[in-house]
Amino acid sequence: MAILDELSGYEFEDLMEDVFRHLGYENVRQSPRTADEGRDILMEEVVDGRRRAVVVECKHTDSVSRPVIQKLHSAVATYDYDGPVRGMVVTTGRFTGPAREYADELGARVDGGVELLDGQDLREIGEEIGMDLYNGRIEILCEEALRPTHPTASRDAPVFEAVREIDNLEAATIPTPETRLELEPTVTVTARTNATFETSVGVIHRVDETNDLVIHAARDTPRVPDGEVQSLVATPNAPRIDLEDERRNLERTFDAVERKRFGQTETEYKEWAVERLRQAHTTTVHYTGDNNVDYEKTCTPSRSDVMVHQIDPVYLPSVRSRLPLGEYDYRYEYYAAGPSRSTTRNDLEECVHCGTGAGTLTYCANCGSINCEDHIETERIEGEPVCTGCAVTERFALKTKYFYDEDNLEAFRAEYDEMALHEKARENVPLAVGVVLAALFAVLFVVGSVGIV
Ligand SMILES: [Zn+2]
Ligand SMILES: [Zn+2]
Repeated sequence: MAILDELSGYEFEDLMEDVFRHLGYENVRQSPRTADEGRDILMEEVVDGRRRAVVVECKHTDSVSRPVIQKLHSAVATYDYDGPVRGMVVTTGRFTGPAREYADELGARVDGGVELLDGQDLREIGEEIGMDLYNGRIEILCEEALRPTHPTASRDAPVFEAVREIDNLEAATIPTPETRLELEPTVTVTARTNATFETSVGVIHRVDETNDLVIHAARDTPRVPDGEVQSLVATPNAPRIDLEDERRNLERTFDAVERKRFGQTETEYKEWAVERLRQAHTTTVHYTGDNNVDYEKTCTPSRSDVMVHQIDPVYLPSVRSRLPLGEYDYRYEYYAAGPSRSTTRNDLEECVHCGTGAGTLTYCANCGSINCEDHIETERIEGEPVCTGCAVTERFALKTKYFYDEDNLEAFRAEYDEMALHEKARENVPLAVGVVLAALFAVLFVVGSVGIV
């Protein structure tokens, strides 16, 4: 743990906060920072159904002597807690003989006792809980991911489903999409915000709410994903896989698998979440004072009003398919959690020319485009759909005709030149129908006027 020695005192406290959380202590937090002293870590343990507070003093020094233990012992004795309290001193270095003797007399894991953890102990704990030190920070080690595939459907089932919605395109005839898996780090912080706001007139506002805050935890700034993605991650029974066990399977299933790194430590995400929750629970309250004057008060929960119950890192699978059709590359991308998914991009559900997804979409086999009703026509020679983007056009019988290419246009020109007049007229159906109707009216008019009907 050479890296441990390079940490600042504050970084050491952050690291220990993570360590204690991994060891299963509850409500692990740091006391407010003071100018002259470091921060204590405050946490709780439940022994035989009884909740006990633990006050931890962190000493990032080579040697810790007896006065440090004495001082913590009195802090434990006076600590304001509704229940028993014990102490703990943690150092990256070692304890002096007198310090150990003093602590032995008090007892370690007993009410009022002081437990000592030195650099050697920390090394062992680090190995035990699998904490890796990376660039002077503890990287979040996470081996769990939400299941990237549907439990009963094939890898590319979503792409095939989308293709089935398109006219003139058969799922059976498309090439196999290239589908990559990106595992995006997320951290879900579960915290209860419990705050009461009082003034001289009594309680004016109360908050008591437990929230799951999902955080995108990649290298960039932490952010909260949209609602759909949040519920994918925060669903308590969302199926998970062990990445260690499933590695080969994933590499067989996907064309590429990329695991992104967590950008920050659990403690940093926790702090970020606490700040978000404090802001989210901030309310402006209007009330009338004893003197009948109206007041306005902004109620923001304090840091200690937000109790973090759980920090849960998990990889969120981002499945990215690329389907090449003709001149086009279609992307279909979604976040997955077993049978559930949240689509982030689907090029197969919109017209390549105008982006509309309304109405029927039709495939143009000539160029590979997907088209809305406004951008698809019928090829005059082939009788197949052709899009306005790739078609070669020319007007015949006052109507624009669409062709796959110049050759087809040429062929039709020759055909048209050979046509009789009524055949040419048929090339413009509305015009031809108009002519026929006009003729019919003319006949009826004549018949009517001679009095036969
Ligand atoms: Zn269109
Ligand atoms: Zn086309």
